Amino acid sequence: MNTITPETIDKVIGTLKKNEMEAVFFQTAAEAKEEILRRIPPRAKVGFGGSVTLREIGIIEALEKRGDEVYDHWKEGLSKEGRQEVGKKQQRAEFFLTSTNALTLDGKLINVDASGNRVTSMIFGPERVIVITGINKIVKNLKEGLARIKKVAAPRNCQRRKDPTPCAQDLKDLTCHNCKTPARICRVTTIIERRPWGIRDFTVILVGEELGY
Ligand code: SF4
Repeated sequence: MNTITPETIDKVIGTLKKNEMEAVFFQTAAEAKEEILRRIPPRAKVGFGGSVTLREIGIIEALEKRGDEVYDHWKEGLSKEGRQEVGKKQQRAEFFLTSTNALTLDGKLINVDASGNRVTSMIFGPERVIVITGINKIVKNLKEGLARIKKVAAPRNCQRRKDPTPCAQDLKDLTCHNCKTPARICRVTTIIERRPWGIRDFTVILVGEELGY
């Protein structure tokens, strides 16, 4: 959405609550990070979705430094099998932290995943899920959310990873080509319409800054 007003934020917080999720707003990423550190006890088992937002706010390092057991499949040096193993641990973690690719005005979370570890842990496994998202992820509706993922989120992720996909390599047109390549990261789409029954606490922390993509 082009303009995010205080009324937009109130509306999204309200619709998320109606959808049986806890929703809170913080103006800055620093405040949101403090809130997450307050909610997660030391020595907890915490999994993370693949998320630029989480890296930008530095929450993984902060939790690890404090002594929490972190399951981060983006950790450098992990083999393919190692990443797979970490993904399974994420599903058994006490807390799962992630962002979302899009958040609609009527309180739905839309995500597109490649391997599925992020979207599965958002809906089953961990008892507590915390989604941290910047206001740049707010979209009008499902249609706009799905379009945002194909125009912004997925291409920028492919470009970050230097994937051999047209959205990362075709310098004349770095948008989605609906590719059929083995490197395609758009493989699973989920829409969370209400808190999944298996998740005891589902919290969305909305931050009044642009975070991730
Ligand atoms: S479908 Fe292919 S080209 Fe389109 S965003 Fe996904 S990976 Fe990129």
